[in-house]
This record gives sequence, C-alpha cells and structure tokens, in this order.
Amino acid sequence: MILEGTPCPRKDVGLEGGVRSEGMLDRLEIVEGDITRLQVDAIVNAANTSLLGGGGVDGAIHRAAGPGLLEECQKLGGCPTGEARITGGYRLPSRWVIHTVGPIWRGGDHGEDDLLGNCYRNSLALAEQQGIKTIAFPAISTGAYGFPTDRAARIAVRVVKRFLEHSTTLERVMLVAFGKAAYETYQEAVEEIAGYSCPPRNKEGSG
Ligand code: ADP
Repeated sequence: MILEGTPCPRKDVGLEGGVRSEGMLDRLEIVEGDITRLQVDAIVNAANTSLLGGGGVDGAIHRAAGPGLLEECQKLGGCPTGEARITGGYRLPSRWVIHTVGPIWRGGDHGEDDLLGNCYRNSLALAEQQGIKTIAFPAISTGAYGFPTDRAARIAVRVVKRFLEHSTTLERVMLVAFGKAAYETYQEAVEEIAGYSCPPRNKEGSG
C-alpha cells in the first residue's frame, strides 16, 4: 500500500491581521494508510493498560514489529489511561513505538476528552524528551474504544497544534487516517482548528 502524505499548504483562512502560528502549519500532516508502514522516528500505539497487545492498530503494530516488542512491553508493567511509555520499534521501519492508552468512551462526561488530550500531549512530550523529530499517531480510542471520530479528531488537532506552537524539536507530526472517512474527518478538523485547507485526499496509486 502506498501512503499518500498530504502536507496541508498554508492558506490564510480565518487568520485576520496576519496572525498565524508561523512554523506550525507545515509540521502537521494528515496521511491515509497503515501506520506500521511509515518511515518516521516513532509511531504511536493505541494500546490498552496491560501493554500486552490487543486488536486493531495494537495488533497490527505487534505483528509488524515481531516478538521483541512484546518482550519489552512485558517489562513495563502496564500503563494508566492517558499516559505514555516508549519502546523500540524492532522490525518496524520506525525506530521507536510510543504506547499510549486512550479512554474507553462512556458517553462523554467521564473525563474522556481530557484523557484523550493527555494521550497526545504525553506522547508528544515523551517524543520531545527522546529527541524524536518525526512521529505518527493513529486515531486513538476511535476503534474498539468507541470514541466519536469527529470529536477525537478535533482533540488531536487542537493538542498537536498547541504543542507545536512551543516545540522546536519536532519537525513533523502525522495524524494517520485508516480509510477515506477518517481522512475526511481529519481534513475538517484541520480546517476548523488550524484555519487552513488540506488538498483532497489522493486515492491509492492515483498520484
Ligand atoms: P482503540 O482501542 O484505542 O479504539 P483501535 O486499534 O481499535 O484502538 O482503533 C484506533 C484507530 O486505529 C481506529 O480508527 C482504527 O481504524 C485505526 N487503525 C486500525 N489499524 C490501523 C493501522 N494499521 N494503521 C493506522 N490506523 C489503524
């Protein structure tokens, strides 16, 4: 599968008076595809509190990384919701995996938004500490954990945007959409929050 990187070009939509987050817009990128194929310094895993693997993106990451990843995870003793832990990437193209545990959706008034925001913030902080320059996130909690995708996308974009405004070490943060609908959800969130438009999604193999 060919991953279509989609840098979002700067457009002065809604940025009156020339105020814009200079340097942030070209560091946030949405891409569609399989996160395990990405050549970045770190990919983020939407793990569970045991850190011992599961379904969805977690299963895909463990399969692609091979058994060394599980062995290292077993030594970590789990991870609370909203926090993040780092391991090697083993057979993945990425050198590191940052494991974070998203909240299970329970209707929206059990702190889910804050916990999801913490996942992105803590993963980015850990990446920064480690000197990581390029990082890719899946849409944490939006699969088996049932978090509404549009709400999760807005939290992701908002937290990444804010983080990049203060980070000088991170060069590229990718939000990885698994499928067309997820990509379009991110497009809308970026347009609304970061105030610029992304190009239409490229179909696989169409350039
Ligand atoms: P959670 O339990 O946090 O909801 P899931 O793995 O069930 O985690 O789903 C999180 C998101 O990851 C979903 O949007 C799902 O479509 C997406 N996803 C699943 N496999 C991959 C993959 N290989 N690459 C990128 N995203 C993926």
